[in-house]
Amino acid sequence: MKIYNTLTNQKEEFKTIRPGEVSMYVCGPTVYNFFHIGNARTFVVFDAFRRYLEYRGYNVKFVQNFTDIDDKMIKRANEENSTVKELGDKYISEYYKDADALKIKRATINPRATEFIGEIVEFVKALVDKGYAYEVDGDVYFSTKKFHGYGKLSGQDLESLQAGARISVDERKKDPMDFALWKAQKPGEPAWESPWGMGRPGWHIECSCMAYNLLGETIDIHAGGEDLAFPHHENEIAQSESRSGKTFANYWMHSAFINVNNQKMSKSLNNFFTAREILETYDAEVVRLFMLSGHYRTQLNFSVDLLDSAKSALERMYNAVSNLENLLGEVKIEKLTGSEIEYKKVLDGYRDRYIEKMDDDFNSADGISVIFDLVREVNTNINSDSSRELVEYALNIIRELGTPLGILQKSTKGSLEEEIEALIAERQQARKDKNWALSDKIRDDLKARGIILEDTPQGVRWKKA
Ligand code: AMP
Ligand code: ZN
Repeated sequence: MKIYNTLTNQKEEFKTIRPGEVSMYVCGPTVYNFFHIGNARTFVVFDAFRRYLEYRGYNVKFVQNFTDIDDKMIKRANEENSTVKELGDKYISEYYKDADALKIKRATINPRATEFIGEIVEFVKALVDKGYAYEVDGDVYFSTKKFHGYGKLSGQDLESLQAGARISVDERKKDPMDFALWKAQKPGEPAWESPWGMGRPGWHIECSCMAYNLLGETIDIHAGGEDLAFPHHENEIAQSESRSGKTFANYWMHSAFINVNNQKMSKSLNNFFTAREILETYDAEVVRLFMLSGHYRTQLNFSVDLLDSAKSALERMYNAVSNLENLLGEVKIEKLTGSEIEYKKVLDGYRDRYIEKMDDDFNSADGISVIFDLVREVNTNINSDSSRELVEYALNIIRELGTPLGILQKSTKGSLEEEIEALIAERQQARKDKNWALSDKIRDDLKARGIILEDTPQGVRWKKA
C-alpha cells in the first residue's frame, strides 16, 4: 500500500512499526459548535481510510481528540452563559449524534484535552528541563530555534518563516515564531495548577501529549485537514521530537477542504452548512458517497446538484443489489455451474482492481468507479438462469467493496419502507399546501407499485395490495 506523505511530498510504501498494527492519530474538533460539512469531510475521509486499513487486515488503534479548552471555547461559553466544561459536554454529545448519523465508526479512544492536564504539564516540564522551552510571567513558550527540524513538514526554513511571520510580535517571546505551550490564567478563565502558576495548555501541546500517552513516542500515521499542516502539525513535531529525540509520526496525511458553490465556506457568506442540516435531507450514505467520490487530497465543491447526483448514483448501486436479492427468489439452480466457476474469476477481478486503486494512496474516487463497473457487469451477466451461489457471490462482493467506504450497508427491505414513509410525509405536506395534483400523483404512483394508502384517525397507513 502506498500513502502520500506530506512530510516528504511523495507517495511512499506503507510500512507499519509493528506488523499488522496501525497507530493513527487524527486531530478532532474543537467542541464549541455543531460540526460543519467541511469538518465532516475530514472525519469521513479518515474514518473510511481506517475502515480500509481494517479491510486490509490491519488492527487499527485510532485516536481522535476533542479540543475542549481554548480561546474559542472560552468565548463561546461566556456568550452562552455557561462554563467551558458544560459547553464541552454538550457539543461532545452532539458530535456523537452527528458522527453516528454519518456512520463514522467510533474511535478506539476519543480523549479530551482537559482529561490530560497532568500529563500536559509533565510534557511541558520535560521540554523546559531539556532547554527547549522557557517561562515568562507564567506563560511557557517553545523555542523554535532550538529544534533544528522546524519547518520540515511545511517545507519552509525558520528564517523564511520568521521573515513572513504576520504574528504580532509579543515582546516577551524570544522569537516571533515561538509558540505557547502553557498560558497563564487571565481573569475569569478556567485554570489548572502548574509549576508556572495557574494556567491552561496551548492548543498544539494537547495533541503531542495525547498521542504520546495513548499511542507512544512514534506513531504510524498522523492526520488532519490541510489547514492544520502549518502551524499546528509543525508545532506538534517540534514538541514531540524535542522531547523524545525520535520521529513523531512516520506518515502525515492531510485532506483537502470543502468549498461551497466554488467559494470558501464561511458564516459571513451565508454558505455554511452543518452536517446535521444536510443529513435532514440526504441519507448518510449519499453524503459519504459524495465526500469519497473525489480524491481526499483534492478540494471538493459542495452543491445540491452534486449531492443529487450522488443520490442517483447510490440508487443505481442499490438497484443492482435489490435486483440480485430478488433473483434469489427466482433462481432454478442452487450450485455453481462449470462455466460459473470460471466466471467467478471475472467478479474477483473487480475486487483486485478496487484494492489496487485503494492501495494507491486511498484513491476512493477510482475505487468507486470500480464498484460501478462491477454493478454494470452484474446487471448484464447475472439473471434468473444463474445459480443461487453465483447470485449470492455477486451480492456479497458488491456489499464487501462498499464496506470500507461505509456505503451499501443498508438492507434494501428497510429502505423500501423508509422510502414509502418519506413519500407519505411528502404527500401530507402537499395536502397541507393544498397541492392536490402532487398529493394525487404520489398516491397514484404508490398504487402503481402495489402500495395502498389509507387515511385513518391515527394518520396515514399503508399496506401492500
Ligand atoms: P476544527 O474544529 O476547526 O479544529 O476542525 C476540525 C477538523 O476539520 C480539522 O481536521 C480541520 O482541518 C477540518 N476542517 C475544518 N474546516 C474544513 C473544511 N472547510 N473542509 C475540510 N476540512 C475542514
Ligand atoms: Zn491536533
